[in-house]
Amino acid sequence: MNAQVSSDAGIAASKGVFIDNHWSPAASGKEIDVVAPAEGRVFARIAAGGPEDIDRAVKAARRAYEGEWGKLAAFERGRLLARLGLLILDNADELAALEARDCGKPMKQAWADIAACARYFEFYGGAADKWHGTTIPFLNGYFVATEREPHGVIGHVIPWNYPAQMYGRTLGPALAAGNAVVMKPAEEACLTPLRLTELAAEAGFPAGAINVVPGLGPEAGQALISHPGVDFLSFTGSPEIGVLVQTEAAKNHIACTLELGGKSPQIVFSDVDLDEALPTLVNAIVQNAGQTCSAGSRLLVERSGYDRIVGAVAERFGKLQAGTPDMDLDLGPLISLRQKGRVESFCAKAADDGIAVLAEGKIAEGAPENGFFVAPRLFGPVPQANSLAREEVFGPILSVIPFEDEADALTIANGTDYGLIAGVWSSNAKRATRVARKVRAGQVYINAYGAGGGVELPFGGVRKSGHGREKGFEALHDFTTLKTLVFKHD
Ligand code: NAD
Repeated sequence: MNAQVSSDAGIAASKGVFIDNHWSPAASGKEIDVVAPAEGRVFARIAAGGPEDIDRAVKAARRAYEGEWGKLAAFERGRLLARLGLLILDNADELAALEARDCGKPMKQAWADIAACARYFEFYGGAADKWHGTTIPFLNGYFVATEREPHGVIGHVIPWNYPAQMYGRTLGPALAAGNAVVMKPAEEACLTPLRLTELAAEAGFPAGAINVVPGLGPEAGQALISHPGVDFLSFTGSPEIGVLVQTEAAKNHIACTLELGGKSPQIVFSDVDLDEALPTLVNAIVQNAGQTCSAGSRLLVERSGYDRIVGAVAERFGKLQAGTPDMDLDLGPLISLRQKGRVESFCAKAADDGIAVLAEGKIAEGAPENGFFVAPRLFGPVPQANSLAREEVFGPILSVIPFEDEADALTIANGTDYGLIAGVWSSNAKRATRVARKVRAGQVYINAYGAGGGVELPFGGVRKSGHGREKGFEALHDFTTLKTLVFKHD
């Protein structure tokens, strides 16, 4: 039961929208071409879902929530999630190949993404029956308990950078908590979410528990975020669409979680153990070609160690290579021509502003000319006021910014509108702890950098990076609401 089937032209045909555990064509009958980023050519088609399909999916989710799915005990939901986790591992070869081709990412990254996706279902499978309320001491003669309840039907809109991980990250906790879901994945890359939903049906999820409607943002996406039958929204993507999601949520008087990316700093003091730090400092921006919400895109370096640290980073940067998934190099292409253009325009502006390129990696020999490759680049020193130091580029571009001392490092680190994650590198544990506690971000690493970290670690931002927490038990908090039950017994 593959999500895509081969057609005569060598282009995998669309199977449609997945509602009530069945494929059907989009109501419009329209389809969208899917381009392989490393090849720059169409290799698949997906359905262009729209308002009618979304309406059908939301109604299917409601039926499931009020019916078979909603009646399952927590441990039974957990068992289904765990079964899906195992099925993902059983099908990891196929899923990783699909993810790699759809996103252009190196095979090792695609493997890691599928393994992470499986971990979400394992983790939340185990958590489903361990998330509970409390009792509250109140007046004599009363017994008070709280209960965590699902919201009902949740609308999930996810981006194209980590489709498989996003699927696990947002659906895992939503389902564990007992919600029924409708997902609108990104039109640029959603073949893995479609395939994963087939696997979910195979794992035994009842009809309507998980519905996936691919389509364009302003059509299927807009229909989902504004649908009055949706009880909660979960969005990952750009701050601009995040504002739209929050506005639509407000109109329907519902809440939402927003994960909107960042401009995350890695703060490197002169006493850093450079040998240990170097691979991580570079990988934090190169992973997934920099198209990672938690990419370490600003390298803040203490002035007293600037030449030594930046020299070592530049040397490593210059050896980086971009290539196809099968070449399995340091990074792949960007997702689209549009994204490549966006990244290149940041680089062109930096050149116009007189910012030096300290090192530049390569596009590997043999990488297809039509692929959306961009050579990784290290810019510096980047003035704090420059757009390269403030805006999310979402590409393999690292900005080096010098700082004088601890206070200066914090001013710069906290000097953007974002606040998703941060890294602090120092051999002085007290200083590293002090700085980490003052950085404005949802997650801070000390002598490490996890690009979002493991499934267990609560993750999310402040201000322009969004709000709400995903991962860990915290996600179950956001995907449930609290009811207080007051019993008078005397
Ligand atoms: P986007 O916000 O437009 O797309 C993300 C998701 O939102 C996709 O599924 C898209 O179809 C959907 N969407 C778009 N318009 C919508 C609408 N009107 N209503 C509902 N859903 C809608 O992001 P993008 O255009 O793909 O990328 C632009 C920039 O956003 C990137 O360069 C990057 O800086 C940032 N971005 C961040 C993340 C992240 O993980 N935080 C992911 C992707 C992109």
